[in-house]
Amino acid sequence: MKWVYAFGDGRADGEASLKNLLGGKGANLAEMSNLGLPVPPGFTVTTEVCTYFYAHGQTYPADLKAAVETALAKIGGPAGGRFGDPARPLLVSVRSGARVSMPGMMDTVLNLGLNANTTEGLAKLTDARFAYDSYRRFIQMYSDVVLGVEHSLFEEILDSEKESKGFELDTELDADDLKKIAGLFKDRVRKELGRPFPEDVHEQLWGAVGAVFGSWHSPRAKTYRRLHNIPEEWGTAVTIQAMVFGNRGETSATGVAFTRDPSTGERLLYGEFLINAQGEDVVAGIRTPQPISKVVRERQGGKRPSMEEAMPKTFAELTTICATLEAHYRDMQDLEFTVQEGKLFMLQTRNGKRTAEAALKIAVDMEREGLIDKRIAIGRVDPGALDQLLHPTLDPAAQKEQIAVGLAASPGAATGEIAFTADEAEKLAAERRDVILVRTETSPEDIHGMHAARGILTARGGMTSHAAVVARGMGRPCVSGAGTIKIDVTNGVMTSGGHTLKRGDIITIDGATGCVYKGRVGLRQPELTGDFGVLMGWADTIRKLKVRTNADTPEDAATARKFGAEGIGLCRTEHMFFDNDRIVAVRQMILADAESERKAALAKLLPMQRQDFEGIFKAMAGLPVTIRLLDPPLHEFLPQKDEDIAQVAQAAGGDPAKLRARAIALHESNPMLGHRGVRLGITYPEIYEMQARAIFEAAMNVEAQGGKAVQLEIMIPLVAWKEELDRVKVRIDGVAAQLKAERGKAPSYMVGTMIELPRAALRAAEIAKTAEFFSFGTNDLTQTTIGISRDDAGMFLTDYLNKGVITRDPFVTIDVDGVGELVKIAAERGRGARANLKLGICGEHGGDPDSIRFCHESGLDYVSCSPFRVPVARLAAAQAVLANVKDID
Ligand code: ADP
Ligand code: MG
Ligand code: MG
Repeated sequence: MKWVYAFGDGRADGEASLKNLLGGKGANLAEMSNLGLPVPPGFTVTTEVCTYFYAHGQTYPADLKAAVETALAKIGGPAGGRFGDPARPLLVSVRSGARVSMPGMMDTVLNLGLNANTTEGLAKLTDARFAYDSYRRFIQMYSDVVLGVEHSLFEEILDSEKESKGFELDTELDADDLKKIAGLFKDRVRKELGRPFPEDVHEQLWGAVGAVFGSWHSPRAKTYRRLHNIPEEWGTAVTIQAMVFGNRGETSATGVAFTRDPSTGERLLYGEFLINAQGEDVVAGIRTPQPISKVVRERQGGKRPSMEEAMPKTFAELTTICATLEAHYRDMQDLEFTVQEGKLFMLQTRNGKRTAEAALKIAVDMEREGLIDKRIAIGRVDPGALDQLLHPTLDPAAQKEQIAVGLAASPGAATGEIAFTADEAEKLAAERRDVILVRTETSPEDIHGMHAARGILTARGGMTSHAAVVARGMGRPCVSGAGTIKIDVTNGVMTSGGHTLKRGDIITIDGATGCVYKGRVGLRQPELTGDFGVLMGWADTIRKLKVRTNADTPEDAATARKFGAEGIGLCRTEHMFFDNDRIVAVRQMILADAESERKAALAKLLPMQRQDFEGIFKAMAGLPVTIRLLDPPLHEFLPQKDEDIAQVAQAAGGDPAKLRARAIALHESNPMLGHRGVRLGITYPEIYEMQARAIFEAAMNVEAQGGKAVQLEIMIPLVAWKEELDRVKVRIDGVAAQLKAERGKAPSYMVGTMIELPRAALRAAEIAKTAEFFSFGTNDLTQTTIGISRDDAGMFLTDYLNKGVITRDPFVTIDVDGVGELVKIAAERGRGARANLKLGICGEHGGDPDSIRFCHESGLDYVSCSPFRVPVARLAAAQAVLANVKDID
């Protein structure tokens, strides 16, 4: 077995493709060495050693020690020096690195190899202050990271030494001071651990290596792996590398850089550096780093010189290396470097993380630059993240009154009425009101309210709080941790900085800045041209699935078309009955004793429905529109409270007692599956007839006004038996025939059904004899099959079986083992009966990338999703086609 892979000096045993073996860091150090870039020499102990270590009672392979010794001796050559040799000491860093970068792993230890003797030697070779400064840093870092001695204990010693000397800064300490401090540090370690700080450099090295492997099983690392589905077996590699020193004076420096701006994607060297500093100083925040590029410094109004100005030669060299790396990896790189006395060394490179905006720009730019092709470019943008770019932003010109500020936790701006509980938010949203859910903090029990809300505001919690994470996942704008806000849920009041707002008052939040404003602030719709349009265009030429939208209003239909919707997959009709001016007629219709009375009430509704459809059909200009006939149980349209009953009875011209009796009679104890949907259409056929007429007349009117003929798809909800559909279809055909008789013509249309009951999915072969299309209503299908996605099932089952907690999960992804199976069965059986059966999905899953891939693989014709998810679906549908195209990495 080869346990150790060397790199540096223009060559390496490994390469980038060996990430599984060498970890990301080790593999890329090897790759950079092979490219001839200046990498301090070193070697990587493979992940297989980690696996061995745990499989053999935390011991190493017998031949590892010799391999490490040999590799150590080899890096001594080019680095100059020998490990543990006081005359010419070689110092190394010990770095952890799994296949994917993983928080929770051991932090890097720098300057390893120093002890009393080698420090003395280093002092002679360089200068004493540098040597003892390195030594005391090493003792502190090693003790903290490897031996588990609190960092703060050393800070206390350092502070009291400075105080006794009357110093402010570390830099005022001289070599003797630092030597004394190093001694005090070691005394402290002995006191804490009951054994001395290791003087033997080999003991130091193996201690650090053991700590890296040990950290693979740290609780933090384990949690991270569980959350990110990283297998335990992967293991971590350990890289041991010759030290280079960024703290050797004014011509030395250390820094991090991105080859393009990770927030905008702009092509420039973006990053920070610190002169005369070592790696940990950049992140420690003791000194403020300076920008690398001059333009960035100028934009930020910085006074101190950028690297471009302070070290122009090294900057030019870094620029060239960046170009080499980009050309090689064909992706934006995130890199770490150190300059030792004017000489540049590369210490790390990897594909850089970026915002959605940057991902889009970089993908399109790199295609233009010839670095990648369109298929790769499409794969580079996460469809889920695209959502960030599709939300409205605040109109910069609008007047605003700020009442609080928190963290910009999830992008987009939103305006709405304040709701203080999730239930309240859900209730208001059901009335089609815009809501901002305002909570001290959110918990999993609030998911339904967060989903219903336009935006979420919390008083407590950071960027990774529940509210922030869930809001980003759902694409809801969110401001978290707005600390000045105090909420009194019981009284429905919130206060912040002298402002008092009540439940139902309007506020506006800006998830891009974290600002919260009183009242309604004008919003600006997102820009859909430029790079966005280009990438979407590429996606459209590749995808096979059509993308439609779920829209009930002409406005939503128009928004969705701007986003590229190719039809409406679900137009619900019930909300058209709830409008204030209609509800009276609806209630008269429901309360009618005789068919004639009911028909009279329906006649009042007909022109209103027709008008609704005309608006939608015009907006969709000749595209297909699936209209679902009335679905909810009738009691939902009736009042519940006595005072409302009295009022309604008066308005509807009826008897309150009768109305109450009727409301009770109609009350549906099984609101999901009972007397509703097609069952309603069968027991009250006039309702569907009226709707069919409204649809047909609207289509003809639009056409008569010069509009394009809409492709009508009339969808019957909740069908479980073919016979149900037959009965209703006869009625609809009857209306068409009647129209033809009246006007000499009728529009063409299809009649189909929503497959939302497991029974319907299983009986698809029969139902398809009547139905010309199926649309999978995966929301209800998910409910009725307890369809929880594979990803979520583990967590759900653990919580429920072990802790007795039933989480309210958003059910965002199709459960391939339940719902998915039913979809496949229905598609297959349905097409068996009718080869050209049109298949689509209109549940919320239609906007979820993983579910879209499933729909593509299952041979569906289209997905339908909310207007804002349309671009997400277009891109995800293209990625589904390209699922087997590997990125370059
Ligand atoms: P992380 O995974 O936390 O980024 P690294 O192993 O990359 O940890 O180390 C952090 C920093 O330590 C590097 O960015 C670099 O500045 C410094 N460092 C690591 N190895 C060396 C080395 N051989 N010489 C000089 N500095 C180093
Ligand atoms: Mg780290
Ligand atoms: Mg690093």
